[in-house]
Amino acid sequence: MNDCLFCKIIAGEIPGNKVYEDDRVYAFRDINPQAPVHVLIVPKKHMDNILECDAETAAALTDAIRAIARQEGVAESGFRVISNCGHDGAQSVKHLHIHLLGGKALPERMA
Ligand code: AMP
Repeated sequence: MNDCLFCKIIAGEIPGNKVYEDDRVYAFRDINPQAPVHVLIVPKKHMDNILECDAETAAALTDAIRAIARQEGVAESGFRVISNCGHDGAQSVKHLHIHLLGGKALPERMA
């Protein structure tokens, strides 16, 4: 298909620690976790970043965030979702992904 790392994880060509999958969304543990729970939630359809995200995919990602937060036991305690976009957003993998971080109190958010 292409040379995209996350497309290869979704296709099973590269190992990933899967935590969730549905028709549109795939989610796996970040290889370099920044919190006790650090899951990457990605659309199965390749799109570079959130600028390319259509409404159906956005809804599917939101549903997956809720399901995974409950599954990982952080829905009540709280969690953070982040999507880095582009060069100045420090996006290193050019396949849209949502970081879900939880399991401990995170630093105060930036203003
Ligand atoms: P970003 O910097 O927002 O593009 O996030 C990319 C994330 O992908 C980083 O947090 C990496 O630790 C993570 N990552 C890179 N390679 C892998 C991999 N093979 N499996 C799981 N997570 C990965």
